[in-house]
Order: sequence, then C-alpha cells, then structure tokens
Amino acid sequence: MRIKAQMAMVMNLDKCIGCHTCSIPCKNVWTNREGAEYIWYNNVETKPGIGYPKRWESQEDHRGGWVVKGGGLSLRAGGRLEKLLKVFHNPDLPQIDQYYEPWTYDYAKLIESPIRKHQPATRPRSLITGKEIPLQWGPNWEDDLAGVCFTGKQDVNFSGLEAESYLKFQSAFMFYLPRICEHCLNPSCVASCPSGALYKRDEDGIVLVDQKRCRGWRYCVSGCPYKKVYFNWKAGRSEKCLFCYPRVENGMPTLCAESCVGRIRYVGVLLYDADRIKEVASTQEERGVYSAHASIFLNPHDPEILREAIAGGIPGSYLDAARLSPVYKLAVEWKLAFPPHPEFRTLPMVWYIPPLSPILPGPGDEERGEPDPGRMRIPLKYLANLFSSGDEKPVKAALEKLMALRNYWRSVLVDKTPDTRVLEKAALTPEIAREMVYLLGVGKYSERYRIPTVKAEEAGNPGALQGRKGFNFEE
Ligand code: SF4
Ligand code: SF4
Repeated sequence: MRIKAQMAMVMNLDKCIGCHTCSIPCKNVWTNREGAEYIWYNNVETKPGIGYPKRWESQEDHRGGWVVKGGGLSLRAGGRLEKLLKVFHNPDLPQIDQYYEPWTYDYAKLIESPIRKHQPATRPRSLITGKEIPLQWGPNWEDDLAGVCFTGKQDVNFSGLEAESYLKFQSAFMFYLPRICEHCLNPSCVASCPSGALYKRDEDGIVLVDQKRCRGWRYCVSGCPYKKVYFNWKAGRSEKCLFCYPRVENGMPTLCAESCVGRIRYVGVLLYDADRIKEVASTQEERGVYSAHASIFLNPHDPEILREAIAGGIPGSYLDAARLSPVYKLAVEWKLAFPPHPEFRTLPMVWYIPPLSPILPGPGDEERGEPDPGRMRIPLKYLANLFSSGDEKPVKAALEKLMALRNYWRSVLVDKTPDTRVLEKAALTPEIAREMVYLLGVGKYSERYRIPTVKAEEAGNPGALQGRKGFNFEE
C-alpha cells in the first residue's frame, strides 16, 4: 500500500443558485490576461445542456479520457504513434467556436458619439482578431435553459430517456453544474502530454502545467474528458485550474469556494492507496468504476493507516486535516456525493451531491407512503448518467438519505415530534442526521474548509514575491 493525500472538493448541487459568483474572482485572479479571454477555469453550466465547450461530455466527439482495451487501460485518443501522426492536425481538438470567440464592445463610441436622434449602438468585436463578429455561443449561453429546446437534445445525459418530452415546458427541469478541473487521480491530461509538462503534485495531488516545459502541442486539451485544460493563444502554452495552490498552501480555500454565495462547496483532504489506481481505473464494467473509485479511499481514523501514512512521509498537518475532512464525510462515509462521469476513468476528485427536486404527482399517491426519488422532477436516470455511469442505485440511495433528512428535520422543527421512522428507512440514526443537517445546512467556514498549511520555512517568504510571480513573469 502506498498512501497519498489528495486535496478534494464536494459541491452540493441542491444549494447552487447559479449566481456565477465563483467564476468571477477566478477569472479576475487567474485568467484576466491576453490570450486567456475565453478561458474559464471555473464555469457554471445549466443542465440539461451541452455546456462549454459544446458537448464536452461526449467522448464520441472529443475522444478524451481512458478506455479499457485488451484488458489494459489506454488513452481513448491513442498512444504515441497516433499522436505523432496527428502532430500537424489533431482532429480531436475543440475549435474556438466550440468554446466561444471572446468579444468586447467599443465603449468609447457610446460616450463620444455626437448628439443625434437615436442612441448610439456598438457591435461586438472579437478580442482575438479585432473584427466585428456575430455572437453565436458563449460559456454561459444556455443559462437558465436559454435555447435548450434546440441544444438540449444533444445532452448525452439523456441517454435512455426521451429527451424531447423533458424539453417541453410542462416537464422541463434544470439545475446548475459548476465545474473546475477535477485534479484526477489518473489524469489523462498528464498521460497525453508528450513534453511531460503536466504533473500531479506529490504532496496534495493538485495537477499543474509547467509553463517552461509546455511546447503547446495541446494533446492535454484533447486528452482531458472534462475539457479543463485550455490553450492560451498568446502565450502558445496550455494552462488550467491550479486549485488556487498558493492559497491552499497557506490554509485558505480556493477562490471559487471562498466566494461561493450558496455555500455549496466543501474542501478537504482524502487519503488513498496510490498502488490501486490502475486496478480501479481499469474496472471492466463502466458501471463498476464509481464503487471501485470510492473503495480507494482510506479511513483516516484507522491507527494502522495513520502509522503507514506517517511512515510514507505524509505530514501530521495533512493527517489532522484528513481526520476532520468534510469531503471524507460527504463522499466516503455518508456516500452522498459522486464523481462526474466516472466512466471516463480519470478518477476525478471534485464530487457532487445530486440535487433534490419536487416529487411529481401521480395516481395512487396515498397508498405509496414515502416519496420515491424515481418520481422526482429531475429524472433519476439523468442524474445516474451524469454521476454513476447510468447505475441508478447509488444515486437513488443518496437521494433517499437527503429526502429522509428533510422529512426528519421537518418533524423536529415543525411538528415538534421527531419522526425517526423516516431515518430508519434510509439507514440513518438521529445523531448522524443531525451532523448531516448541520454540515449541509449551516456548516461554518472552518468546518466546510479543512485545509492543512505548509510550514513557513517550506513556503519561503511569499510576501517578497507578491506582484512578481505568475503567468506573465519570466523567472
Ligand atoms: Fe487533467 Fe483536470 Fe482534465 Fe482531470 S479534469 S484530466 S486533472 S485537466
Ligand atoms: Fe453556485 Fe456558489 Fe458558484 Fe453561485 S458561487 S454559481 S452558488 S457554486
């Protein structure tokens, strides 16, 4: 067993209000530069929809991630030979139109226009070419289901469902899906890079691009199934979400988590057995990848695991953080959160608690007794396609727990007679239910973010480097 620590995040989709506040500080701090205008390390999509870039979830189109071939694990896009053959034209690379051509307006025209009968108007201008462009797509084009009656049919999560009927006004549903890089345990971006420029940090598992080694081949862009590596057209290099590592090293959460209005994000450490990565990612059945992935995490309360972790060089601050990790509780202990598209086999580490939705009325409601997640407005199959490769069982179990919590808490607060029967059906105890309600509902900053700091002597003097480091500064 080779124990490693991984920084991970859980997002509770039940609480995301789609305000995009998370995207703004991320944009302002990390991608507010020439060449990075179209890049959103954090973006918030409305589901159903095809997202940013278009149809990123369809690996038929984008050929990212891994596949099991001949009993072993291979990159879907092929190995070194295939890469060499495509070196001058990589057909798997998304085009700028699939993200969007970034634009601005000639604002001076509005201010300096002479007095005239009609108000002056400005047309959008490309930030790449400077020419006027028609607006046809954006990172947020389908916000709140805008235009989804046209694009929604192409959403791969409708697989096995009648998409048309769910896109009609009467049965429409929606929820938000905020997305960052998944800082995967088995990152296909790292495996795709011919220059060895991408790497996974040993101490916390954050995946980064070494800007000095990157040669702009862009195989990481096509290799990532979540499309979370971007090509900077000005720098000629790839770049990606860095899990705000300069903040994390100082014990602070990522900017998207810090600024989240809905308080949907939880950041913490997980311990896992790195020797099992290959075996887990090669799980034969796509539907089995989620449970295999969940089994790779180790119990941070087990003294034997702690002894091995210390022997393996994991610092005490990481072990303390792992013991108090909200991510461990939500994803591993309570099994409320799921990785997006486990079938991509990269073992993603930003997990989601599926959203609840109203129970649709139907005949025989009275006899049915407890509400069934299978009759929620958001189809269970859709959530299962997104979070557990189509296997409804684990997602249903999580939704049942969340529904039981609501019912129990209503009985506590409104009826003033705690109804523990609802908890028993979901295999919960009143103690665990209270803990869950607290963490999911009113968890404090220090409970939602348990982040170990690095020692001052390891960090050097970050104050002296302020304003002199970053993407735009040469060493
Ligand atoms: Fe790499 Fe992030 Fe994509 Fe995973 S989600 S493959 S770590 S860029
Ligand atoms: Fe959702 Fe939080 Fe982002 Fe708002 S800030 S869109 S609530 S993740």
